[in-house]
Amino acid sequence: MKIICVRCKTFLGEQEPFDNLAEIKAKCSACITKDKEVASRFTPKPKPGQKQEVTLDNGLKGFLWVAQDKKDKLFIGELAVSGKKFHCSKYRRQEFQNHLGSLTGEDFEITLLHSITCKLDSLPKGRKKKQDPPKTEKPKKDDSIQYNCTFRAPRHYIQLVFDDMAVRMDKVTEILAEAAFKTYKEEQQKAAPKGDLSPMSGSKEADIPIP
Ligand SMILES: [Zn+2]
Repeated sequence: MKIICVRCKTFLGEQEPFDNLAEIKAKCSACITKDKEVASRFTPKPKPGQKQEVTLDNGLKGFLWVAQDKKDKLFIGELAVSGKKFHCSKYRRQEFQNHLGSLTGEDFEITLLHSITCKLDSLPKGRKKKQDPPKTEKPKKDDSIQYNCTFRAPRHYIQLVFDDMAVRMDKVTEILAEAAFKTYKEEQQKAAPKGDLSPMSGSKEADIPIP
């Protein structure tokens, strides 16, 4: 029997019975070293159901955990305090403040989205043939893993975290809204025949000059 490296297909040796041509799968030392190297590039992360203690930049101790249930998953720009989720924005500030105010005690659990890891499909090898029919996308299983970070902090600190995130999220919203409006205006201009009054021309929006 032949001993073959599953990774690089290197022939590693033979083993009895010699007349059996079946392959024994193994891994050569070079491939083992390479695998270890790849694995070491990733910091260990907790498995579902486990918690991993971390020290945050601010010195507070918290823990990482895998958010599996829908109720635990956070969107970018969201945080959860004592189990209630909030999207950080100046429009939700009052509601958030009320929630914080309704809690008894001095410090509370705050949960933030820490990171998301997802598997990337390896690209098909070789050139794509033009005559190949377009592949129908199979609905993919969600392979991504969401890590949350939970720590305890005093009320005023949690409010600061919310405000800081709100400023950043509102900025992003502004940029996206601006871009969407610009595209909309461009589409309107293309659609409107020359010399004709577009239905928008009497409205306030149409009076804003396009840069
Ligand atoms: Zn190998």
